[in-house]
This record gives sequence, C-alpha cells and structure tokens, in this order.
Amino acid sequence: MICTKCGQGIPDTATVCEHCGAEVGEVLPTGELRKPENVMLGIVGALVGALIGGLCIVLFYQMNAVSAISGVLLAFGTLKGYELLGGKLSKVGIAVSAVLILVMPFAAYLVSSGIAFADEVKQYGMELTWLEGIQAFFELLEYDPEMIDAVKSDLLQLYLYTGLGVVVFLASKTKKFKK
Ligand SMILES: [Zn+2]
Repeated sequence: MICTKCGQGIPDTATVCEHCGAEVGEVLPTGELRKPENVMLGIVGALVGALIGGLCIVLFYQMNAVSAISGVLLAFGTLKGYELLGGKLSKVGIAVSAVLILVMPFAAYLVSSGIAFADEVKQYGMELTWLEGIQAFFELLEYDPEMIDAVKSDLLQLYLYTGLGVVVFLASKTKKFKK
C-alpha cells in the first residue's frame, strides 16, 4: 500500500504508517494515489449513472412503487460512474456525485408524478404532456394537504434508499482498503 499522507510504501498488514504514523484507514492501495483524474469524463460517468437510476425511479413509479432498488442504484451508479470514467473518486467527484444524488431523485419523482397525472386525466378526455402534468400536480398539491403528506413520505422513502446506495458504495470501498 501507499500512505496518502507521506506517499511512502508500507506493508499491506500495517495498521499505522511506519514513516509518518498515519492510520491505515487513510492509505490507498498501491497505484490508486498516482492515477490521474479525468474530471470531465468523471462527470459524464456520474451523469450516466444518475440518469439510469432516475429512469429506473420513473419506470418503477409507473408500477406504483417507490422502489428500493432504483434509489440504491441511483446513488451507487452515480458514484461508480464517476469513479469508472474519471479514474478515481476525488473531492470534486464526491461533490459532483452528491449534487446529482440530491437532485436526481427529486427530478425523477417530479417527472414520475407528471406522467402519472397526465395518465390519470386521460380518462376524462384531457391530453397533457408530462410537463403539463407536473404543473397540474403542483396545483393539485395546493388544494390537497393530504397529498402533500403522501408526497413527503414518498420522497423520504426515496432518499432513504438513495442514502442506502451511498452506504453500499462506501462499504464496497472499505472492503477494498482492507485488502
Ligand atoms: Zn505515511
């Protein structure tokens, strides 16, 4: 392994760096330290991951389910996407991913609701696009406090699962460190 504090090689079994005393949690596997980061590609990767996750949320929502899988997938896919295309997950990567992980579930939820609403009014002979559906959805919220509660609990669930995805990703990283 290589110590991230001082950059010197240390045995894989070491618990602290023998050169500077940094803890092993702070060291990276050999090679990872000097790998250059490609921020642009990383952002593309994170976006692709987030979009796939968002799409899953929209698809699952059409089946009347705030899906655990799509929330987890969104967070994991975003972080993994940045790491895969960007070369490594730096502070920039974490920041970009964090923004996407916060924004994308909400955006996907809005699109889902817009589509669902447009679908529902079809039986009354109204033709709405999903964008108009979102608008109508917001108008409906103003008149129906019960719906606001339902939306809140839907979003809470969604973000819980998204958070779980982050934890799963971090857990997969920690395992790698211990090798
Ligand atoms: Zn060190």
